[in-house]
Amino acid sequence: MKFYVVFQGNGRVPYLRAANDGLYHHENIFNVKIGDKVFISKSKKIVAYGYVKTENKYDGTKKKKNKIVKCYRADLKEIVELEYPVALENYKEKLEYFRKKSVGHFPYNIHGQGNQIYLCEISEEFASFISSLINESNEITNEENNQFLDELEEISSKLDSFNEIMESKNMYKSDISEKNYKELVNYDFEIQKKVEEFSSIKSLDVMRAILIRQEQGFLRKNLFKNNKENKCCICGKKYPVSFMVAAHIKKRSLCTKEERLDVKNIVAPMCKFGCDEMFERGYVVVENGNININYNGGESKDFIKYLKELEGRKCLNYNKENKQYYDYHKEYFEKAKL
Ligand SMILES: [Zn+2]
Repeated sequence: MKFYVVFQGNGRVPYLRAANDGLYHHENIFNVKIGDKVFISKSKKIVAYGYVKTENKYDGTKKKKNKIVKCYRADLKEIVELEYPVALENYKEKLEYFRKKSVGHFPYNIHGQGNQIYLCEISEEFASFISSLINESNEITNEENNQFLDELEEISSKLDSFNEIMESKNMYKSDISEKNYKELVNYDFEIQKKVEEFSSIKSLDVMRAILIRQEQGFLRKNLFKNNKENKCCICGKKYPVSFMVAAHIKKRSLCTKEERLDVKNIVAPMCKFGCDEMFERGYVVVENGNININYNGGESKDFIKYLKELEGRKCLNYNKENKQYYDYHKEYFEKAKL
């Protein structure tokens, strides 16, 4: 089964119809096959979808630039008009992501507007993204979505038990034990997998947001203990801990579970006055305990002056246990450049 987007004035038109005039997006009418799924798009919204019922039917002629061209049509079946059309303009980043990934033509610009195309094939991945948006905002009535419903039910009951577990283990408190922290990271990985499978399910994102907040709370407590002030390991200045973060040396999202659990070494105290941001964005890296700086030259004098003050300093919390994370961070930005 292939997937298409068609731009037509009305979600109720139960067929695709195009002239055989040499335009690739019209010629796609010859590629659609029985059973293919077609999303109907109108004014930056997906308004309906359906499936191809008949293919490649001659359907009269039309006049185009003084020439008579033949038209062909494919009828659609099982058309579902969406009670809540999906507004694509709300998903700019996703559109950009799928546009970059697409090998052929992509039907939309990042604002959700059609690219002057009639009928366009889309990837299975983009189709399932659209389907997930449709499922999210519309009641699911289709037979084939029963499985999805079952999974949804399983997950929402998980949200209930998640809340129970979090409460029973006192994990909604700001100071949780190391044992609970370990469970928390385990949950997070489990949920992350589910989020990747069903990107549309909000409750999972909510769960993850809670876990991340708890995790950060634990890491802060573990790092700053009961200190009111702490030294920033990059600039060496002492600040109230409320102006400091427990910064992941190796990007949190790239850490394995074991690395996330290496709580003593994976984070470092950095100030919000710039060091945390500079480090996170690779302007500051640590090599053998010494601070090196990177910049591409396009930055302002003030910016570079600030950065140069950090150059050559010793990183205060560098040791042989966290060396691997500082090395990873440095190499990551050497590869990525700024
Ligand atoms: Zn600092």
